[in-house]
Amino acid sequence: IRGAGTWKSERVIASRQGPHLRLADGGAGIINFCANNYLGLSSHPEVIRAAVEALEKFGAGLSSVRFICGTQSIHKDLEEKIARFHQREDAILYASCFDANAGIFEALLTPEDAVLSDELNHASIIDGIRLCKANKYRYKHMDMQDLEAKLKEAQKHRLRLVATDGAFSMDGDIAPLREICQLAQKYDALVFIDECHATGFLGPNGRGTDELLGVMDKVTIINSTLGKALGGAAGGYTTGPKPLIDLLRQRSRPYLFSNSLPPAVVGCASKALDLLMESNAIAQSMAAKTQRFRSKMTTAGFTISGKDHPICPVMLGDARLASVMAEDMLNRGIYVIGFSYPVVPKGKARIRVQISAVHSDEDIDRCVEAFTEVGRKHGALP
Ligand code: PLP
Repeated sequence: IRGAGTWKSERVIASRQGPHLRLADGGAGIINFCANNYLGLSSHPEVIRAAVEALEKFGAGLSSVRFICGTQSIHKDLEEKIARFHQREDAILYASCFDANAGIFEALLTPEDAVLSDELNHASIIDGIRLCKANKYRYKHMDMQDLEAKLKEAQKHRLRLVATDGAFSMDGDIAPLREICQLAQKYDALVFIDECHATGFLGPNGRGTDELLGVMDKVTIINSTLGKALGGAAGGYTTGPKPLIDLLRQRSRPYLFSNSLPPAVVGCASKALDLLMESNAIAQSMAAKTQRFRSKMTTAGFTISGKDHPICPVMLGDARLASVMAEDMLNRGIYVIGFSYPVVPKGKARIRVQISAVHSDEDIDRCVEAFTEVGRKHGALP
């Protein structure tokens, strides 16, 4: 791995997650632009208090899977709240969204069925699909002509499921859900979306990509995480029709054979959802900051992929350029990460910047200034 230049090292943080970090090796006052902490709830005082209260009242953990003796009232309350948030019939909790994605396809689909998956879907969707015995079709990224061709081919199967990320984490682009749902209707298919990079902040009330694109009543299944915008602790879920959720409780292996969510984690997510259902002010503040960063960077001469999403990939092309620029940004107090092949396609290396509601306008402006200086130094800008 080292020989291929793809060894990943971990930077050690000595403070809470947030817009300003202290690193264990002494770096202080670092402005963090690479967390999925879109709404800044990971260190929100009310979220932390809710975790402490749940820990004291319900203990450290259950030492059990859900169906033996691992279901507490707070698990049921959180499932009900998630379903209400997404306006769905029911929800089921998992230890992570990776588990939710690993557990759904095998439980739902048989060898008589088909799953049609966007080629750039998250690794956990790919792994979940690998585990099931359905017929597999991979369509070109967000290419509706290709999806239609694959849906036609898949008519011979009993049931069809189209699976896509709502928002794609490497590019910050949003799946064309209106068109996907129209095709699904035409070819009698169900639609599944992974909303890890959308839940809590996309759409007028932060419900996600389906709300943003006006198809809440057309998407059948949503998987998402509690480990990003919704408090950032851990956990994932599936929400959708009650019979599907009932089936998952019986058949989904990561649910059946893994410990239930720790109370403190449940407390965080539950409070995060309360905050979001009370007001959409936090999500709106993040949107305004995203707009500020995207527009200032574009004016400075950079190309930012995606549109209106807090994932703002600064496209650089060359892998070495992305890596040295990211290092130099850290020397200027800005923590960002470069991504190159095999995480993204060859020749499409980038630095991914993620905006949070808790960044100040000054933080954003300092980031743009640092990019401009470092970009000029390394020849990414004229
Ligand atoms: N799906 C997508 C699109 C993700 O980005 C991630 C996290 O990186 C996951 C699923 C897994 O989520 P979790 O961290 O809850 O396992």
